[in-house]
Amino acid sequence: SEVLRLEGVSKTYGKDGPAPVEVLHGLDLSVARGEVVALVAPSGAGKSTLLHIAGLLDTPDSGRVLLNGRDLTGLGDRARTEARRQELGFIYQFHHLLPEFSAAENIILPQLANATSQRAAAERTTDLLDRVGLAHRADHRPAQLSGGEQQRVAFCRALANTPALLLADEPTGNLDPETSDRVFEVLMTLVRETGLSALIATHNHALAERMDRVIGLTGTGS
Ligand code: ADP
Ligand code: ADP
Repeated sequence: SEVLRLEGVSKTYGKDGPAPVEVLHGLDLSVARGEVVALVAPSGAGKSTLLHIAGLLDTPDSGRVLLNGRDLTGLGDRARTEARRQELGFIYQFHHLLPEFSAAENIILPQLANATSQRAAAERTTDLLDRVGLAHRADHRPAQLSGGEQQRVAFCRALANTPALLLADEPTGNLDPETSDRVFEVLMTLVRETGLSALIATHNHALAERMDRVIGLTGTGS
């Protein structure tokens, strides 16, 4: 079955202005359950636009967005926020961890927002930190961690609410190449072990080749 399906999705920025930018035109894309799909495209081709639409942060001009078979196209803000919180996990190029909270707290907070009990959230957090090799960093704040460690904490946070789909925009893009490879390996292991579906944008063709399928995005050139 399909976790994500985009049908005929089009998006143009500045439609009513003097210089419209058509980014997506009739895009069809699907991610099957348990599938890890790489999205490879040059800068400016529309990766972020696509991930924002798939992540229910932006709406297409036309076309449909289905999550687990449910058409979310016409939903209001509240229902989209709810679906985002329950079904989606996000990883960004920069970790966006809350600086005043510890690694563990950063992973616990989204679970409490989803009404998970304190105890269950703490147990899941310990398990996730253990899986990425950071059990000993639970009480450290982001500033006390290396770039690679911060990004591994961000992976745990994205998986904290057991999302149906993980969306990642250049998840290791801000790390040096060696750290990037190592941290990416951790991410792939985490995704595989949890049976997660994922759509992962990357510039890195070598990393993309390790996923189940590669989708290119050409930009519409207008
Ligand atoms: P990528 O993530 O692949 O670099 P983006 O989705 O960020 O691509 O952007 C695709 C194109 O759309 C770029 O040409 C960018 O300048 C343009 N763009 C993105 N967001 C906006 C916006 N809010 N308004 C106008 N143009 C935008
Ligand atoms: P191919 O495997 O034929 O080289 P790509 O991997 O380049 O195709 O593209 C994957 C799919 O996404 C194709 O169906 C392509 O037509 C579509 N696509 C690529 N860029 C865009 C875009 N900007 N708008 C809509 N569809 C696109």
